[in-house]
Amino acid sequence: MEEAKEPLEKEESHDTGEKDMWDLVNYPLLAERAFDLAKAGLAAGEVPIGCLFAYFPDEVSTQGKELQPIIIAECYNTPNRNKNATCHAEINAVDLAIEWAKENNVPLSTLWPRTSVIVTVEPCVMCAAALVYIGVRHVRYGCSNKRFGGCGSIADVPLHEGSKAEANGRVCPKFVGGWRSEEAIMLLKEFYKGENPNAPSHKVKKKKNRESGATTDNK
Ligand SMILES: [Zn+2]
Repeated sequence: MEEAKEPLEKEESHDTGEKDMWDLVNYPLLAERAFDLAKAGLAAGEVPIGCLFAYFPDEVSTQGKELQPIIIAECYNTPNRNKNATCHAEINAVDLAIEWAKENNVPLSTLWPRTSVIVTVEPCVMCAAALVYIGVRHVRYGCSNKRFGGCGSIADVPLHEGSKAEANGRVCPKFVGGWRSEEAIMLLKEFYKGENPNAPSHKVKKKKNRESGATTDNK
């Protein structure tokens, strides 16, 4: 069972305090979509974590107008469906974003620094490292992930890997967590209720997992 930390609004230490186009992003709207994705994951029998990548092609000067992103990837966790424990929402989204970039002739060196990642749960160590490595601009996440979280819960990947990224001339993402965390936790609790021996769906879930060899304990 995932447990909640107190909601926090944590600015990663690499934050320069800059005021730029990223302050004009309608994050609540993007978050709403990420939660819809998490709920779709829950309905599909996956750990309910939703993720989307929002690409902002416009230049900085927008005269204070809200920036319109292009949603280039949206998905949820699929380790069970894919029988692959690494199919976390963020990793799936990276693959989708690369496909989008190829189809639209956008170089990845242009794409990643103009992309915000919205995810309902703190990225795990694997996903946090992947997001730092590719150099997205922002990562906004909901609740903390005390068992696997790589953004401060069990490791602080952005802190330790971010300076290496910058030393290699890459953008280090700014990680911000803690928005709508209660809601994200409630979704996780709803999923894990299925693992409660007293829950009616327990037998079905265990049987299904044995057959597939997959685990739901991936986050
Ligand atoms: Zn992950």
